Amino acid sequence: MFSSLRLARVFGIDIKVHVSFALILAFGAMQWGSAFGLRGVAFGLFSTTLLFSCVLLHELGHSLTAKAYGIPVKEITLWPFGGVAQLGAKPKTPTEELLISLAGPAVNVVLAGAFFLIGWLGLGAEGLKAAMLDIGQTSPTVVTLLGLLLGSNVILAVFNLIPALPMDGGRVLRALLSYRLGHGKATGIAATVARVIAVAMFAGAIAFGHVMLGIISVVVFFGASREAADSKAGESLSGVRAGVAVNPHALVLAPSTSVGDAVKAMVNSGQSAFAVMHYGRLLGVVAREALIKVAGVEGPAAYVAGAMQRHFPMIDAQASLEDARQKMNEAVSPYIVVSDGERYLGLVTEIELTRHLVPAQSMASGFKLPRGLR
Ligand SMILES: [Zn+2]
Repeated sequence: MFSSLRLARVFGIDIKVHVSFALILAFGAMQWGSAFGLRGVAFGLFSTTLLFSCVLLHELGHSLTAKAYGIPVKEITLWPFGGVAQLGAKPKTPTEELLISLAGPAVNVVLAGAFFLIGWLGLGAEGLKAAMLDIGQTSPTVVTLLGLLLGSNVILAVFNLIPALPMDGGRVLRALLSYRLGHGKATGIAATVARVIAVAMFAGAIAFGHVMLGIISVVVFFGASREAADSKAGESLSGVRAGVAVNPHALVLAPSTSVGDAVKAMVNSGQSAFAVMHYGRLLGVVAREALIKVAGVEGPAAYVAGAMQRHFPMIDAQASLEDARQKMNEAVSPYIVVSDGERYLGLVTEIELTRHLVPAQSMASGFKLPRGLR
C-alpha cells in the first residue's frame, strides 16, 4: 500500500512505516531545533528514530513469540502513536496469548535495564539521577539521550501493561481469566474492565486537558467493544460446520462463461464469488473484485477462466465456520473453498458467515471481515 513504506524484512516479517510518521520526525526535529539550531534538529531526528526503534523491538517481541507458536506474522507497521504487529491467526491457548502479550513489554523491561546499567556505570548513581530528573530540559547530549531512552522504555512497559483490552495488559488479563472461565467469558469481563478504565482515562484527559490520553481512551473503548463482539461472533460461528453452511444451490460458472454473463449472474444471485467448474472438477474461483476488474480492463467478452484464481484457501467440511473465517483472514481472501476430501462442496463467503451470526448487532459493532470485503 502506498500509505506505508517498507523499510526492511526481518525474520520474514515486513517492517513498514506509515507515511504520517514523517510528522513525528518533523515534530522531534522542530522541538529540539527551535532551541538548539542544527545540532538540535539532528538530535531530534536521532532520538525520535531511537525511541521508535524501541517500539519496533517491542513489536518484534510479540511477533517472534507468536512465530515460535506457529502463528504467521505478516507485518509490523510503525504509526506515530506506536507500533502494530499483524498476526495471521489468534493464539490457540491462554498460555500462548499470555506469553505473546508479555513478550512486548518484557523487551522494554530488558532495554530499560540495559540503559540503566549503562547510565549507572557511565555516570554513577548521582549522575544518573540528575539525568532522569532533567529529561527534556537539558541540552542535546548523550546523557539526555540516555535519560530519554531509559524513561521511555519504563513508560512503554508500564503503560502497555495497563489491563485494558486491546492493550497488552488487557490481553494478559483475558489470558489469565481464560484458564478458569474460557475464552468467551474472559473476553467479556476483560472488555468491561477495559471500558471502565477507558472512561476513567477520558475523564482524566478532560480534567488535565491531555489530548493524547483522550485519543487513547477512545481507541481503548472501541477496541474493547470490538474484541467483545469479535469473540461473540467467534462463539456463534464455532458451532456451525463449514460443510453445513455452504449453499448447495449456488450458481457455478464454466471456464468459457463470459465475464459479462458472470457479472449478470453476480447481480442476479447476490453471490460474491463463484466456483469455476469443468466436468464436475473445480478449476478455480472468481470473486467479485476480480470479475469487475477484468470486465473493466478486457471487456465483457473475456472468459471467466482468465479472471479466476487457481490457488485458493481450502477447508474441510467438518471444520467450523470460525476456522473458515480465521483462514479467510489469514489468506486475506473474501471466500474459502469447502471440500469433503476430494469432492468440492461449495464456498463460504461473507454471506454464509453473516447468516450464522446469531446476534445481529455483532456486525454493527465491529465484527471483523477479511480485508477484501471492507
Ligand atoms: Zn505490545
